Amino acid sequence: MSPKILPATVSPPLSAPPPFLTPRNYIPPHVYKHPAAILLELCTSTKELHQFLPLVIKNGLYSEHLFQTKMVSLFCKFGSLNDALKVFESIESKTGPIYYTLLKGYAQQDTVNNAYKFFCRMKCDSVAPVVYNFTYLLKACADRYDAKMGDVFTEEQNELVESAAEMLYGLIHVRYILTSKGMAAMLEKYKNYDFGRCPRVYCCGQPCLPVGQSDIQHSSTVKIYCPKCEDIYYPRSKYQGNIDGAYFGTTFPHLFLMTYGHLKPQKPTQSYTQRVFGFKLHKP
Ligand SMILES: [Zn+2]
Repeated sequence: MSPKILPATVSPPLSAPPPFLTPRNYIPPHVYKHPAAILLELCTSTKELHQFLPLVIKNGLYSEHLFQTKMVSLFCKFGSLNDALKVFESIESKTGPIYYTLLKGYAQQDTVNNAYKFFCRMKCDSVAPVVYNFTYLLKACADRYDAKMGDVFTEEQNELVESAAEMLYGLIHVRYILTSKGMAAMLEKYKNYDFGRCPRVYCCGQPCLPVGQSDIQHSSTVKIYCPKCEDIYYPRSKYQGNIDGAYFGTTFPHLFLMTYGHLKPQKPTQSYTQRVFGFKLHKP
């Protein structure tokens, strides 16, 4: 293929990041190609890191997001959580990844309780956790528990394990039901009316599918979607009503009906008519 027919690549202007990246996660080449960034990569101890720090500050790189995350990550790796915390606290606008990096440090280098305290701080600062936060936390709980067999978890640790396990399961679940295997499993449940029937009279007991109103956790509980009237309702079962809608997501029922197109019912032909003493009410 001639290179002439390939679209010309447009290099991003130096002053502004490309539109698909937010300014926070766009790293200009002069930052990641700076010799100080390479020195940080080669760092093997806290002592070396302290030696490089003046170089980072002198070159005006201390306020760069890449350097901040790298320094927090390295201080955690070398077991200097206090230094990592100092860097973290000095950052004015903290991003999600900087929280995740420090949480990983606590989970790997400190007590489970301190990791849990930092996890609570994340919640207070409205930083939404991601799947791998829980994998670190659960591993920390498991490692510490193994080390002291016979001890029981504290209430805080129990709470952490339970909420982490629930959220991890939920986040895996939302991905699983979109796979072909997951869809097939949901088809069986749909055929058994496991998700309930549409409460609308003219939908004649149409089986429903679970749906979330948002893909963000803790936004709303799961609802049921009726493929006939194409509306959503509260599930009848109290147990189902307490499940986070994000564990089913906004995509599932629609992808399910696209996959199994033959299951999509006809739209309802009848609708309710208002009558007074047998006479139809005319709407103004
Ligand atoms: Zn319906």
